[in-house]
Amino acid sequence: MRDAQADIGRRAWTSCPRCPVAASCAACDTGRNCDAHWCFLLAAEGRRLFVQCPGCWHRWWHDTGFGAGDRPHAVDRVPYFPTAGSATA
Ligand SMILES: [Zn+2]
Ligand SMILES: [Zn+2]
Repeated sequence: MRDAQADIGRRAWTSCPRCPVAASCAACDTGRNCDAHWCFLLAAEGRRLFVQCPGCWHRWWHDTGFGAGDRPHAVDRVPYFPTAGSATA
């Protein structure tokens, strides 16, 4: 059943290990938040998130791999500025 802490306003983008959905999609791969691969964010402890799948209500601890306080690497992604090589300047 849906956890009492589940709030549509608090979500984490990860995919459920139980649901037969693709692990990611084109939007996920480019660091954007899609409408398919998210879970309710119930709690956070350091870099681990306690999330619940909105499809099967499975709850689990998701290790984000980021240190406490770190921002998702996608946020800090350095924009790519193509250079024209030796043709410039
Ligand atoms: Zn996705
Ligand atoms: Zn699920």
